Amino acid sequence: MKALVADHPLVAHKLTTLRDVRTPTHEFRRLADELVTLLAYEATRHLLVEAVQIETPVTAATGVKLAGPAPLIVPVLRAGIGMLDGMTRLLPGAAVGFVGLARDEETLVATTYAERLPADLTGREIFILDPMLATGGTLETVIRMLIGRGAAGITAVCLLAAPEGLARINAAFPEENGGVPVRVVTGAVDTRLNEHGYIVPGLGDAGDRLFGAV
Ligand code: URA
Repeated sequence: MKALVADHPLVAHKLTTLRDVRTPTHEFRRLADELVTLLAYEATRHLLVEAVQIETPVTAATGVKLAGPAPLIVPVLRAGIGMLDGMTRLLPGAAVGFVGLARDEETLVATTYAERLPADLTGREIFILDPMLATGGTLETVIRMLIGRGAAGITAVCLLAAPEGLARINAAFPEENGGVPVRVVTGAVDTRLNEHGYIVPGLGDAGDRLFGAV
């Protein structure tokens, strides 16, 4: 697994407001959307391009376009939905699949309750959207599901990550094993998880802050 922390003043600035408990839902949503677009720029750096011929108003020229097949974006329900617009803004040609995982608040074990993904992902680059990489249990489950369907490469885009979650994904998908490349792109790596599996200092429950407590 390769991890990239987007070290940028705009990311740090927006994340600080996102974390602030006084930031209301409408502003939280807007900031999350903007942050995803900034992270998406880094997360898509490895995508392959192919040459195309075009005519500018002045002359014939060679340019590039993203090589096929179209990437697949997979928001993890429910909080990942709050990241979808920010990602498709940069990748409008991508397809979108969905997975829903709920974690047991006592055991912190994630179970799948919804799944709408292509059966065959051969050759496709996948972008998983999950705002909080906490224990890494959810992300590991989703990555295994996608690798099992033939994904060519997997990039998780997370607003925040805990060291524990990064360590788990790194142990599950070591870079040197020659398997499917797994990347994590995040805005920051926080200090630790607390006893409830929340990231510290974190931003609280990302789903509740995006959509309100249900
Ligand atoms: N999920 C969240 O929404 N917040 C955390 O801090 C950890 C997991």
